[in-house]
Amino acid sequence: MRIVLVGPPGAGKGTQAHVLAKTLSIPHISTGDLFRANISQSTPLGLEAKGYMDKGQLVPDEVTIGMAKDRLLQPDTAQGFLLDGFPRNLAQAKALDEHLAAEGITLDGVLDLEVPEDEVVKRIAGRRLCRNNGAHVYHVDYNPPAVAGVCDECGGELYQRSDDTEDAVRTRLEVYHTETEPIIEYYAQQNLVTTISALGKVDEVTQRAVDALQARAAG
Ligand code: ADP
Repeated sequence: MRIVLVGPPGAGKGTQAHVLAKTLSIPHISTGDLFRANISQSTPLGLEAKGYMDKGQLVPDEVTIGMAKDRLLQPDTAQGFLLDGFPRNLAQAKALDEHLAAEGITLDGVLDLEVPEDEVVKRIAGRRLCRNNGAHVYHVDYNPPAVAGVCDECGGELYQRSDDTEDAVRTRLEVYHTETEPIIEYYAQQNLVTTISALGKVDEVTQRAVDALQARAAG
């Protein structure tokens, strides 16, 4: 399956994408994780992205689209992919459509994770990520690791993202409303969108997501 996951920051896209990708045996492609990997390796792309990310702004399209296309050309995407955090505006959605059309493929669905804004703020404030793998995500209250500060999956050190500050979060939410929400309408016109609630326990949300994707696959 070829799926796009959308939802506000803090909706749990990364957490759900990690589990769903495993369940569906397709790669989880997160542009946020790709940027963070570039930042931790101090690549020129990482250095460019960091300034935008720390302020909660979008990294410019020419950088982001090129990076996403490169990733989509890797052979592991032949069986499908789960895109998390891309596309994030209409220009990116159109670039993705053009890229897929050139490859002779189409998206199977867009999963929209819905969550109220006050919940988003609580989730982000307590969020912790693994330094080894940004897809290993925890929350100090809602989804704590067995040992504080240590990743259950790989033993990596947990840390708080530099863009999970109050100011950056406010900007990210604004950017989500103005830039990203319009892509939901764009995909709705292609009949691709299923909206599910992202409230509840992680595995409850996963079950809702799996059910929604199965219903879509069954047509
Ligand atoms: P979240 O969805 O929780 O805000 P992500 O890890 O997906 O977190 O993204 C973090 C930051 O990375 C964004 O605020 C933005 O600066 C940058 N980023 C990620 N994906 C994109 C994208 N498709 N276009 C532009 N910037 C992006």
